Amino acid sequence: MSADRALSDSLVLRLNPSREADLVVTLFDREAGKIDAWARSGRKRSKRFGGRLELFQRGAARVRAGRGGLPSLTAFERTESLAPRDVDWPRLCLASYIAELAAVAAQPAQSDGALFDWAVDALRLCDRTRGLNLAALLVDLSFLRAIGGLPALATCMTCGGPTLRGASWPDATEGLVCGDCATPTLTDAHMEQLLRLLRSLPEAAGQELPRRAGVQLRTRADRLLADVLPRPLRTRAALQEALGGV
Ligand SMILES: [Zn+2]
Repeated sequence: MSADRALSDSLVLRLNPSREADLVVTLFDREAGKIDAWARSGRKRSKRFGGRLELFQRGAARVRAGRGGLPSLTAFERTESLAPRDVDWPRLCLASYIAELAAVAAQPAQSDGALFDWAVDALRLCDRTRGLNLAALLVDLSFLRAIGGLPALATCMTCGGPTLRGASWPDATEGLVCGDCATPTLTDAHMEQLLRLLRSLPEAAGQELPRRAGVQLRTRADRLLADVLPRPLRTRAALQEALGGV
């Protein structure tokens, strides 16, 4: 019998029912990358899984190589739940969207600490912020940053100077322009606020951004996401509906 493999820091991204009581679990492990594993009787409460396997759990997992097919999940010990504590529909939609983004971007057998940390911070954002539209925008921009798909925002692409004050973002695929090089298309304060929030997602609790500024930034994020995602995400349509347009 093959030995168990220990995964020390994994997130549960997807749970797909299989047969009567089983689950196919998609895990994203900080070191081992994305792993699909078969959890026998995973839909029932079990000591092996510390109760019931649930989405957005973070914990230590054990998997065992199967013969031919998927590896088996033999144990899961939860260290924390990153599910929204306020269980309302828009928050669940945002958390599911984050999980799908992570599942699309994570690769099997590939460690990706930046993406893993992004997923953890982004899931925490579902709980902490009041304005979910801003949370969704920050989720998208920070996701793009984690996978290397966001232009450099710290310096002006024209003069190389700092962009924090008076910055504008004329074209999604190019960087920011400072207030000396172009007339800002957004007010200084809004872009400055966004850049500060992006620097530290956990501090984005309870912040708001004026709707007009959010809409302009949203079009930039959408353009960049369309370039990097292989297909439209199912959870995104649900999120858009729940938030009345993201
Ligand atoms: Zn400049």
